[in-house]
Amino acid sequence: MKRCYDYLIVGSGLYGATFAYRAKKAGKKCLVIDKRIHTGGNIYCENIEGINVHKYGAHIFHTSNKEVWNFVNSIVEFNRYTNSPVANYKGKLYNLPFNMNTFYQMWGVRTPEEAESVLDSQRREALINLNGREPSNLEEQAKMLIGRDIYETLIKGYTEKQWGRPCKELPAFIIRRLPVRMIFDNNYFNDKYQGIPIGGYNKLIDGLLEGIEVRLNCDFFGNREELSLLADKIVYTGPIDEFYDYKFGKLQYRTVSFETTVEETANYQGNAVVNYTDSDIPFTRIIEHKHFEMFGQEIYNSSFGFRIFR
Ligand SMILES: Cc1cc2nc3c(=O)[nH]c(=O)nc-3n(C[C@H](O)[C@H](O)[C@H](O)COP(=O)(O)OP(=O)(O)OC[C@H]3O[C@@H](n4cnc5c(N)ncnc54)[C@H](O)[C@@H]3O)c2cc1C
Repeated sequence: MKRCYDYLIVGSGLYGATFAYRAKKAGKKCLVIDKRIHTGGNIYCENIEGINVHKYGAHIFHTSNKEVWNFVNSIVEFNRYTNSPVANYKGKLYNLPFNMNTFYQMWGVRTPEEAESVLDSQRREALINLNGREPSNLEEQAKMLIGRDIYETLIKGYTEKQWGRPCKELPAFIIRRLPVRMIFDNNYFNDKYQGIPIGGYNKLIDGLLEGIEVRLNCDFFGNREELSLLADKIVYTGPIDEFYDYKFGKLQYRTVSFETTVEETANYQGNAVVNYTDSDIPFTRIIEHKHFEMFGQEIYNSSFGFRIFR
């Protein structure tokens, strides 16, 4: 039987859309299906009050690969957004990732030597408490890597909210290393390139899928046999346990939930990402999406802020 397509691509997220784009360039005929009513998968954006809101969680594109960076910028230009989250612990603000700014805010230390000295003495204290044992849980592991103060202020409450379990009951291997920067640098990623597409992620996906047949609201498993007959090869980007009909068991997935509000203020928190590391606050962070794409005066020209709890 003659099949209509070279590839059936299940899922129109970043992977499916990029594959389709490159296959088309190579002269292949593709059909992309998605069970959602929109393309883009996790990076899909909904425009609310003129602000691109990352509907399935905040996404910052980052890579050290020049080819990848040039490729995405050939589809849509990226802005200069640099992720530099702030942590709020009981109303006091700390810069992340852990760097000289954090250590100054935590201990008032001004030089790397002073910071190393506090870190070393707290690491020693954790080692003494272990009494020759290996760390048996996340709390012991984190204290050994970074000491008591940073653990209690910036790690404990946040991690417990994320995992829904006390750190003492979480395995040590979750935190293998905790990078610290002995310089004043709040850039979260070490990658050479990072940013957000100007105009939002939908522009990237639309550009990748231009001229490619897409069927939305189409669940592969709703019609697996018939859809599989349409193409020589299938590229599947959904949950892998479902693909095998759970015959190798069910995978455990972490979920996130979002609460969204529109605030009538030009600038709600002054930063895209503020983490709440105190266990008394029931959510882990507030994302103010306008800061991903609006800079300087643009922020004040748009009257609405936008925040998401999760
Ligand atoms: C909250 C959150 C934040 C993240 N932040 C970042 C970040 O800041 N930077 C970063 O690099 N990465 C981040 N990631 C990871 C990033 O989302 C993924 O690496 C990337 O978007 C995955 O693209 P994908 O195409 O593989 O999958 P997805 O985007 O999940 O796309 C898969 C698509 O397949 C569709 N699908 C699934 N099953 C079926 C089916 N049976 N039939 C039809 N269609 C189906 C889905 O509807 C979906 O559209 C984050 C992930 C999450 C969850």
